[in-house]
Amino acid sequence: MAPPEDDTKVTEEAMAAEEEKKPISTIVFVIAMQSEALPLVNRFQLTEDPDSVFPKGFPWVRYHGIYKDLHINIIWPGKDPVWGVDSVGTVSASLVTYASIQALKPDLIVNAGTCGGFKAKGACIGDVFLASEVAFHDRRIPIPVFDQYGIGARQTFSTPNLLQKLILKTGKLSTGDSLDMSPQDEASIIANDATVKDMEGAAVAYAADLFTVPAIFVKAVTDLVDGDKPTTEEFLENLAAVTATLDQSVMNIIDFISGKCLSEL
Ligand code: SAH
Repeated sequence: MAPPEDDTKVTEEAMAAEEEKKPISTIVFVIAMQSEALPLVNRFQLTEDPDSVFPKGFPWVRYHGIYKDLHINIIWPGKDPVWGVDSVGTVSASLVTYASIQALKPDLIVNAGTCGGFKAKGACIGDVFLASEVAFHDRRIPIPVFDQYGIGARQTFSTPNLLQKLILKTGKLSTGDSLDMSPQDEASIIANDATVKDMEGAAVAYAADLFTVPAIFVKAVTDLVDGDKPTTEEFLENLAAVTATLDQSVMNIIDFISGKCLSEL
């Protein structure tokens, strides 16, 4: 007779398979910047939650509403309470992902935002990527196994139909807490075989994985890391136009997801 752990595992797997067959109902978007979030808030006619599901006094903002058959939530970590700028980066991203999953029990997490792209890997300004894999590039721990833990590479939820239908680009996403790129980061990004670079993706993936909630990463290129222009200048120059492209892609993705179950993506 099989030991009891195996029974539990079989049941869990059967339950997960059942889950994949139910139509997707609740989606949580994790979006780092207000300028990325607001066009979508308007597009889906979402409203800000006055009784936040998050602890009182936290800067985190939840916008929500119903679009078609979907409960849409956009979670923005808000402005930093001390510095007054968007709370970008891995720390707030993983915290809001954790808290949002606990409070809202989503079927799917979508981390949407801007990113830097590598033209040597085929990225162009305004391209929208669906990441196939995520990893960190600034967690260097040169001790066996800890090195792999630091990189934290993981597959994203596979959505072959979505990718094909919407003709999105795909590539690996590398995450770190800096907008610029040090030579050491560059070496790790190359080792990660990344096409795009951001400051949140792998952190969102980590938190989503703890709950085994599927997560996808929709990233629009604002700047070419291996291009001629300084990153900050190029980022600010393209932010508005690229955010509009991102907004349109997210809309198409949501229209595609509506009425489908996870296994159909
Ligand atoms: N100067 C900006 C700071 C935003 S930080 C401002 O005015 O607000 C950059 C944000 O965009 C992060 O959320 C990150 O995920 C994304 N991003 C865009 N280009 C990037 C790049 N080249 N490297 C890393 N993150 C990038």
